[in-house]
Amino acid sequence: MNSKTLKSIAVIVAHPDDETLWAGGTILEYPTNNWFIVCLCRASDTERASRFYNTLKLLKAKGIMGDLDDGPDQYPLDEKKLEDEILRLLPGTHFDLIITHDSAGEYTKHLRHEEVSKAVVTLWHDEKITANELWTFAYEDGNKTYFPRAIENADIFESLPEKIWLRKYKLITKTYGFKENSWEAETTPLAEAFWRFKKSYHAMKPEKKFDDDIKVSKLSIFKLLYNDCFIHTFEKQSWEAETTPWTIAFRRFKNSLNVENKL
Ligand SMILES: [Zn+2]
Repeated sequence: MNSKTLKSIAVIVAHPDDETLWAGGTILEYPTNNWFIVCLCRASDTERASRFYNTLKLLKAKGIMGDLDDGPDQYPLDEKKLEDEILRLLPGTHFDLIITHDSAGEYTKHLRHEEVSKAVVTLWHDEKITANELWTFAYEDGNKTYFPRAIENADIFESLPEKIWLRKYKLITKTYGFKENSWEAETTPLAEAFWRFKKSYHAMKPEKKFDDDIKVSKLSIFKLLYNDCFIHTFEKQSWEAETTPWTIAFRRFKNSLNVENKL
C-alpha cells in the first residue's frame, strides 16, 4: 500500500476489537487512507461501544456500530438481515478496498466472523457493493494449539514495526481494557496477513487461494529451512524472529515467486 495514495477502505467486522486485532497495525501504518470501520454487534453494549469509538479516534478512522445478536447462544443470523444491516451501516456502496473476516474465521471458532465474511463476499459478488479488491484476514490458531498467528504464505504478510505493534497493543490493553493475560492481549499479532481477491468469484470459492501449487510448494521448502533456523533459538513469532535478516530473505523469496505480498 503506497502511503501517499489516498484510498477509501471499508473494514467490516463482527465485534469491537476485531478491527484492531486483525488489521489495526495496517490501519496505523497507513493513516492517510479514508478508513471506515463497520462493527456489526454490540452497539447497545455501552462499555464496549464507547471503547470502540475511542479506538476509532486513535486509529484516525471513522466508523459505526450495529446491534445484531451476539448472545452466548450464538444463534445463526438471518443472512438477508445481516446483508441489509451491512448496507445500511456503510457510508456508500463503492470502495477502493474492502477488508473483512475470512470465510474460515481467524481462530477456532467464531460463527459471527464466518457469517460476516460470507455476507460481505455475497454483497460484493451480487454487486450491491463494489470494490477494486477485497481482502480477508489471514490467521490461524493450529486448531486452538496456539494464539492466532498471521499466515506467512498468505497473499499479503507484513511484520509490524515495533512502534506500530506497541500502539496496537496499547489499544487492546488500555483503550479496550483487556488485561495483559487475556486472550486478546496475548493474541495481539506481531504481523498482519490478508488473502487478497480481485474477483468476487475467487472469494466465493476460497480454495482458489492456492491455485498455483508450484509456487506454494517452493515456498513451503523455504519455510522449512527458515523454521529450522529459528525453532531452537527464538519463538517463531518473537520480535527477534520477526525482524531478522532470515525473515526478510524469506519475504524477498516470496516476492521472487511473484506471490503478491505487498499492499
Ligand atoms: Zn470477533
